[in-house]
Formats: sequence, C-alpha cells, structure tokens
Amino acid sequence: MSVHGTHCCKKHGCKYGDDDCSVYYGPEEGIVCESCDWEANDPEYQYSVKLEEENKAMRAALEWIAQVETTRQEYQATAKGVLHQFTLNALKKDHNHG
Ligand SMILES: [Zn+2]
Ligand SMILES: [Zn+2]
Repeated sequence: MSVHGTHCCKKHGCKYGDDDCSVYYGPEEGIVCESCDWEANDPEYQYSVKLEEENKAMRAALEWIAQVETTRQEYQATAKGVLHQFTLNALKKDHNHG
C-alpha cells in the first residue's frame, strides 16, 4: 500500500493534493485515512453527525407538517366554497318561491 493508502480517502481527498492520487482511481478504494480514523474516534464529531441527522429528520417532519397544513387549508377553502354555493342556492330558492 502506497503512502496515499494511509493518508488519503475518497471522502477527504488526497492529503498531498495529488491529482492522480491512487484513492481516486486505484484499487485503494474504501480505505480509511487518518482523518477518517480521527472522526471515528472523536465524540464531538460523532455528536455533530448525529445532530445533523436529527436536523435532517426534523426538517423532513416539518416539511411534511407544512404539506399537511397546506392540504388542510385547501380542503377548508373548498368546503367554504361549497358552503357558499349552498347558501346562494338556498337564497335563490327562497327568492323563486317568494
Ligand atoms: Zn493521495
Ligand atoms: Zn478520510
């Protein structure tokens, strides 16, 4: 394994800024570099990743709620429209009878 094999990875790129680093093209795919190792052992980083995941889940939930709310308002508007139509029809009927 070359020096790139222990210092570079697909996620963090080449530590030496090498354009044809073996991690991009070679069989050293899937290797873990020093940064990967550091991340895996850093509780603060792990926490930030977890937080980011939770934020994503929260955003998805909020988007869903917003969507449901929009649908509810649309239904409400439709219901109001139908009710208005009923009222108009009733008034017309009364008028015709009267
Ligand atoms: Zn490299
Ligand atoms: Zn890495």
